[in-house]
Amino acid sequence: EAAIQQTLKEKLKEIFGFDAFRGEQEVIINNIVSGNNTFVIMPTGAGKSLCYQLPAMVLEGTAIVISPLIALMKNQVDQMTAFGINAQFLNSTLNKSEMTRVKNDVLSGECRLLYIAPESLTKEDNLIFLKKAKLSFIAVDEAHCISEWGHDFRPEYRRIRGIIDDIDPKLPIIALTATATPKVQQDIQKNLNMEESYIFKSSFNRKNLYYEIRPKIDSKKQLIRYIANNKGKSGIIYCLSRKKVEEIASLLTVNGIKALPYHAGLDADTRMKNQDAFLNEESDVIVATIAFGMGIDKPDVRFVIHYDAPKSLEGYYQETGRAGRDGLEGNCLMFYAYDDILKLEKFNKDKTVTERDNARALLMEMVAYSNLGVCRRRQLLSYFGEYSDKDCGFCDNCIKPTKKIKIEDEAVLGLKA
Ligand code: ADP
Ligand code: MG
Repeated sequence: EAAIQQTLKEKLKEIFGFDAFRGEQEVIINNIVSGNNTFVIMPTGAGKSLCYQLPAMVLEGTAIVISPLIALMKNQVDQMTAFGINAQFLNSTLNKSEMTRVKNDVLSGECRLLYIAPESLTKEDNLIFLKKAKLSFIAVDEAHCISEWGHDFRPEYRRIRGIIDDIDPKLPIIALTATATPKVQQDIQKNLNMEESYIFKSSFNRKNLYYEIRPKIDSKKQLIRYIANNKGKSGIIYCLSRKKVEEIASLLTVNGIKALPYHAGLDADTRMKNQDAFLNEESDVIVATIAFGMGIDKPDVRFVIHYDAPKSLEGYYQETGRAGRDGLEGNCLMFYAYDDILKLEKFNKDKTVTERDNARALLMEMVAYSNLGVCRRRQLLSYFGEYSDKDCGFCDNCIKPTKKIKIEDEAVLGLKA
């Protein structure tokens, strides 16, 4: 036991260059190395990836990492490659010969980590290939994609369990997510048939993030001033629509700020290019819809601005969570206008009654959060089931208290037409 721990710690230093494990990483990694099903719930930036990356280096066979986005796979494969690790991805961007090379690397046992999209996983020839390969375990990253109550539901994620059973029902599974609401958690366990697994859940408090909400008045001027005051720092600005993304990106550019747009309306090449420019610091600011960011690992994002209100507190928490992942300064600013809530409500008009009620309930929580004068952190954490009776002293409501409870809540509550 002691010997294994020594090797894990040595490997941590040798391969990744890190001096110590963070939080519960070591316990989790030991648990996985022992072949147990494991469920890891830790906030963004906590270091979940290492929990499967390191076991993949010590166990025999290739680890399969199921990941929902090509951008996310690329990001991790680039990182692993920089560490000198043979990691590859299998997705629709590969041509035939690249595909063959990847598969050969897996079959020869050279590839330690194979990242794969759930769509590729269900393809017949990939299944045949995976059955031939020697696998160590399956990691389901961003496991909340399984749940309709999560913020990025992906129907294909619900087929993962069946496919694992087809490959080898005894393969250990490690599910990872930063979504901690009890509903999502239950969904994941049920769907992956891992009710009996070990669960590691850590606190969702991001102590270095400063939460602030300003009324959306003169917001363009405020935005430019804010970024000018943070010159040279990395930041993400979230907007509701593609059109708004383009508009704000141009506005910033003409004001001498290095900013690029990112949204699903851009072609894949441009998206990749803009993302890389942001990651490589050629661009300070990325203006984006929520299409940007899941799993993106840029440790030194110094601010996240919600130019428009997000659809849920969960989304808000995830998006602001991309700031200060290195534990240093992280400012989360949101511009709030009730008009934006009404716009979001309009998007729900063609949904079924249940979907609409669900979406409205989520929006309502967002409205309450934006309007209440209560400590922001306490509100956020209680949403994740963490209660505290102490104010944080590090959010706008704690630092500049104002009384603000508004009647406009009534409309969203359904009390007003
Ligand atoms: P998550 O998936 O939980 O959001 P990541 O796995 O992307 O977070 O890790 C966030 C950052 O923390 C990455 O830059 C990673 O290299 C770094 N990291 C992870 N574990 C450690 C550690 N033990 N020591 C130092 N840095 C770490
Ligand atoms: Mg992650």
